[in-house]
Amino acid sequence: MRILIVEDESSIANFIRDGMEEEGFAVDVASNGKDGYSLAIDNIEEYDVILLDWMLPGMSGIEIIRNLRIVNNEIPIILLTAKDSVDDVVFGLESGANDYIRKPFSFEELLARVRVLMRKNETGPVIFTAKDIEMDIEKHTVTHNENHIDLTQKEFALLEYLLRNKGKVCRRTRIIAKVWNIHFDYDNSVIDVYINALRKKLDDHGSPSIITTVRGIGYKIEDEE
Ligand code: CA
Repeated sequence: MRILIVEDESSIANFIRDGMEEEGFAVDVASNGKDGYSLAIDNIEEYDVILLDWMLPGMSGIEIIRNLRIVNNEIPIILLTAKDSVDDVVFGLESGANDYIRKPFSFEELLARVRVLMRKNETGPVIFTAKDIEMDIEKHTVTHNENHIDLTQKEFALLEYLLRNKGKVCRRTRIIAKVWNIHFDYDNSVIDVYINALRKKLDDHGSPSIITTVRGIGYKIEDEE
């Protein structure tokens, strides 16, 4: 899951980024309106949610939303704002924000709102299965024949990405962008390390892995239905 934070107050941006990374999100941060808009427009398909400060140097949060909504209506956007008159809130929502949160806010409140919006925006199930493996996104659990499997945050994010794309080949460059948030030409062999770890935890001894290697391209979980 990938998130964009556009916030010019670095203490707030860092506070959100650290919390979101701990929750397993890949996080991008922009500290002014123009950079935020460029990142958003260039990667609109990659982000699962955008957190947008209202008062920003260069381009306001409202201008960014209006421009983004011309090309994309789906992506959830939460406005971060010190403004709190009813008129301001209505204006923000009418401009295309899905929700707003008033500063100062607690990380828990922000996270809860992000999760609500992501659930609304999700198409498809919150429980994924492949052979004897079951992943429950809401409970954040993975089981194998109903036995709990302990995964790290990155292992969980990688497995979730593969399961959401079950039946399709997941390219290494997409995996590294979506799960690790790395966009430049990067030695992506880190993926292999995590795939091996997942296979050790998920696969039955002696039977084929649930994760298939597609040589030279990436990985895939077969759609058995
Ligand atoms: Ca600001």
